[in-house]
Amino acid sequence: MATYSSAARSTDPRPHVLVLGGNFAGLGAAQKIRHYAGDAVRITVIDRKSRLLYVPNIPLEVFENRNPAENLFMDIVGPLAADDIGFIRAEVQAIDPIAQTVTWVPCERPGSASETQDYDYLVIALGNRLAFDRIEGFAEYGHSVTDTFQGEKLRRYLHEAYRGGPIAIGSARFHQGDGANGLQPYPGGSIPAALAACEGPPVEVMLSMADWLQRHGKGGADKVTVFTPANLIAEDAGEKVVGELLGIAGKMGFHYLNNTQDIKRITRGGIEFADGRTVEAELKIVFPDWRAHDFLRGLPIADSEGFIVTDLAMRNPKFPAVFAAGDAAAVTVPKLGAIGHQECDLVGRQIAFDLGRIDEDMAAKRLEPEVLCIGDMGSGRAFYIRSNSWFGGNTQVLKMGRLPHFLKMRYMDLFYRNHGKVPDWGLDAAELMAEGHFG
Ligand SMILES: Cc1cc2nc3c(=O)[nH]c(=O)nc-3n(C[C@H](O)[C@H](O)[C@H](O)COP(=O)(O)OP(=O)(O)OC[C@H]3O[C@@H](n4cnc5c(N)ncnc54)[C@H](O)[C@@H]3O)c2cc1C
Repeated sequence: MATYSSAARSTDPRPHVLVLGGNFAGLGAAQKIRHYAGDAVRITVIDRKSRLLYVPNIPLEVFENRNPAENLFMDIVGPLAADDIGFIRAEVQAIDPIAQTVTWVPCERPGSASETQDYDYLVIALGNRLAFDRIEGFAEYGHSVTDTFQGEKLRRYLHEAYRGGPIAIGSARFHQGDGANGLQPYPGGSIPAALAACEGPPVEVMLSMADWLQRHGKGGADKVTVFTPANLIAEDAGEKVVGELLGIAGKMGFHYLNNTQDIKRITRGGIEFADGRTVEAELKIVFPDWRAHDFLRGLPIADSEGFIVTDLAMRNPKFPAVFAAGDAAAVTVPKLGAIGHQECDLVGRQIAFDLGRIDEDMAAKRLEPEVLCIGDMGSGRAFYIRSNSWFGGNTQVLKMGRLPHFLKMRYMDLFYRNHGKVPDWGLDAAELMAEGHFG
């Protein structure tokens, strides 16, 4: 295979930051590095696609009967160029942290030769593989909302083919690695082991589904069984929040199966779980295992499952020029964009500090993970969760109503309008409003 060293082409003497991935974490990290390090660095983002997919709003588009592919992509090339950040549309194939190189193949047209590029700093923001291919029967009988293909497939089924049968919604087992063991984000706390990668979306889909069934005269919550491999669904939101949620869901009539261990297979008639139980369902909406990309597994920067090991400043302890942000990082549990958002800021600070652009005080900030989730419930209502108790903090907030829905929609507007640069006051204002500090 032809290989070409791209580094040879650059005459720019500044340290080169290569950011792998251009969705929430990649775009956010590149922007934060530029923000804190100014013109001290050259930055290049590599992604196989040149548009950001606004994942959190896929379920809402599906239930509103809109094709999510029409509204949820945002160009990143222009916004990056406006900050003097280069973009290469390519498939990343390999990372060599010892030689400090990345190998990738341009993917605008098939047949390109692979290129090997060196870096001074590397930010891995490649997200994960959503392992639907490991669930027997998913392709034939399963549905999901994790990308626009799955969203559109579900939208068409729901609005055109659904026969009014029972519905099952839940997660396959997540296999977390050992990369965050021993980290203490709050005094006495930890990054606990999760059995599901991200259970805000199943809770969102179950509540929206009940509303959709009712609005369309097809029944209500009692048609829906929600299941989890864990002891408690969305356990990372904290016991108090989940207790309240389950109380409300129980009153609405949802069926609930916990400790299912994993999805064994999906059949035409339902789901078989690893613990031997089954659930009958016409519609099976599932969230798979979030697995690390194959080429990351076995690298000296990766943990036992291929997630990138970092400290709480998002820096790899063995290779200090390597950072991770977003779902690819071992410390990001659950796999939530809101945690990745905080991580991007930390990466920006660390690189700027190395280059002498910010002082020690500004670089001292560390990750304080918080589950921040605004999930649609249909009919203009949403739930808002802000909680850090799972990690050792003492915050657990749950609100439901029209204001969280308003905030969810306005946050997306703000994100699009500012090309991903959500000002800090945007999140603070959302928190103040949702938690009822304004009248
Ligand atoms: C239905 C749903 C709802 C959600 N709702 C919320 C929510 O309300 N709040 C919240 O905080 N989080 C939410 N999340 C989680 C959130 O979407 C993820 O945490 C977030 O997308 C992670 O961002 P990321 O940039 O790390 O990874 P990703 O968004 O997965 O992006 C990874 C990028 O890397 C690129 N890439 C991957 N491999 C390669 C390769 N080999 N070569 C080139 N490019 C590559 C991809 O093209 C992609 O652009 C939700 C998730 C789902 C599925």
